Amino acid sequence: MIVVMKSSATQQEIDRVLSSIKDLGYKPHVIQGVLRTVIGVVGDERGKPHHLESLRVLEGVENVVPILQPYKLASREVKPDNTSVKVGNVEIGNHKLAVMAGPCSVENEEQIIETAVAVKNAGASILRGGAYKPRTSPYAFQGLGEEGLKLLARAREITGLPVVTEILDSDDLEIVAEYSDMLQIGARNSQNYALLRRVGRSNKPVLLKRGMSTTINEFLMAAEYILSEGNQNVVLCERGIRTFETATRNTFDLNAVPVLKEKTHLPVVADPSHGTGYWQYVIPMSLAAIAAGADGLIVEVHPKPEAAMSDGGQSLKPSKFAELIAKARPVANAVGRKL
Ligand code: PEP
Ligand code: MN
Repeated sequence: MIVVMKSSATQQEIDRVLSSIKDLGYKPHVIQGVLRTVIGVVGDERGKPHHLESLRVLEGVENVVPILQPYKLASREVKPDNTSVKVGNVEIGNHKLAVMAGPCSVENEEQIIETAVAVKNAGASILRGGAYKPRTSPYAFQGLGEEGLKLLARAREITGLPVVTEILDSDDLEIVAEYSDMLQIGARNSQNYALLRRVGRSNKPVLLKRGMSTTINEFLMAAEYILSEGNQNVVLCERGIRTFETATRNTFDLNAVPVLKEKTHLPVVADPSHGTGYWQYVIPMSLAAIAAGADGLIVEVHPKPEAAMSDGGQSLKPSKFAELIAKARPVANAVGRKL
């Protein structure tokens, strides 16, 4: 349900509604609009004797309306205006596009610093890099762990770029949060509900990637797990889905960009590196994602892709990344955005 307060509602009236919602056994989420406050009400309705409709009689309440979508807090029904998510000093979801770039894995100090400086100089706004890697094979490089996090923090110190890195396991939350500015939930953990709830209870922004077989509806329900725990700083990432096609690593579902932008107020970014799996398709698909309305990109960049410990084949050299930015600027301008 959404409780729409009158524009004239006082703080006292809002507080009274909030405590009534809690008394009825639900969780209120206040969304402060420009003109009025609305309160999203979520919770398990089973076995509750009193209906939320009763809130209608309280002072300051204009209307109580049901939320029709299964995802509640993520929906535009609750919040028609776009959300922007702050990561360090960067805002994702406003007029200016956010570009996250860096290697798939942090490998050593020289590699991460060199890449961070190069992507910063080319125009990236956030540094990416994995310290805990979800690899298909248990025998493949699993990431440097805490050492990788420290190197990312060092790269941030040198470049000023905020850092996004993947969290694989709830047990690592404290340490990953200590060194990074944004927690990435990877495709393989996109429906790991315990992990989603855990990051939902932290105050770090979350980059939630779409699972390789999750529908858009399931993707939004995954975001809802995070939002329902209180963390409203969620950015969605389309990174390609599994289809019958084998010419590319995944099928980059660009339909998802305008569909998500219609259904949710959360920012949507696109990952053409994992979306295609081949460096030569990364620039064209980056441009396409911007044209489709993405709020930003996440791109893998490596100084020596041929020697990369993971995802070298889809990584851009720094010079190619600079070319991407140069080509993306006019496309961004053409769709009313800035880069
Ligand atoms: C990554 O960003 O390196 C990664 C593992 O991505 P995904 O979870 O989308 O496969
Ligand atoms: Mn990767």
